[in-house]
Amino acid sequence: MNKTKIILLLAFVIPMLFSFQCNESKNKETKSENITASKQKKDSTKTTLTGLQKLLKAYPNFLDKADGNKLYWKDGATMIYDDGKEKTHEEKLENADIEDMISQEYVMGAKWSEPPAKNFEPGRIRYEPFFEKMYGNSQSAVTSNLTTINWFGTSVQVSTINEVDKKFKAVMEDLEKLLEKYHKYFKKTAGTFNYRKIFGTDRYNAHAFGIAIDINTEYSDYWQWDKSMKYKNRIPFEVAEVFEKHGFIWGAKWYHYDTMHSEYRPELLFN
Ligand SMILES: [Zn+2]
Repeated sequence: MNKTKIILLLAFVIPMLFSFQCNESKNKETKSENITASKQKKDSTKTTLTGLQKLLKAYPNFLDKADGNKLYWKDGATMIYDDGKEKTHEEKLENADIEDMISQEYVMGAKWSEPPAKNFEPGRIRYEPFFEKMYGNSQSAVTSNLTTINWFGTSVQVSTINEVDKKFKAVMEDLEKLLEKYHKYFKKTAGTFNYRKIFGTDRYNAHAFGIAIDINTEYSDYWQWDKSMKYKNRIPFEVAEVFEKHGFIWGAKWYHYDTMHSEYRPELLFN
């Protein structure tokens, strides 16, 4: 090889190689961007479907189907899943959509993170029209769906919708089987149905729909009773576990803790 050939080689081949390499890495970049974008798209679709599917599975008597961003009720009504608004936690509590309502994943079982992280309180965010549609949108409508059950000697009223009354009875049966040392926590109740707005808000809580219970306040802790927000819980998980088994979530797993409180929210118990 003479000098000219070597110079020619260097002049053409090396830049060509370099440009190949550039294209290659550029292609890789574009490709990886595409993968990320499609993954994100897939993930957000998955979240939407999963959230909606959880609802369909939890409330088969009321809900028919879901597609895209819509939930179809069996009576023909539709509800938007995600209103697309960015919200702070406070705004979610005040003005939730269905997506906000199930955006935090409730951790079933004994291994939840205690104390809960700031504002982590799956189930505390509720889209009220959803519950009003099932359980009643006025005191008389809710009341017409209630039945009286005997909670270890106390008469309380609970909803018959979604067979919540039967779920309460199943909870009682299983609680009764727990060791005697646990009985003091649940045999006394501070109440179930109560058609009242949450103090200081314009919202109803789960008690207004007849789907919640407060157990013995003597062993309970509630963030409203302790303005320091120092998390405390004295109710053993063995008690809450029985509630979870039958579709009830537990307020001790909330940042704004309410350890006596359980409410029927099966949509949050599917993982
Ligand atoms: Zn309560």
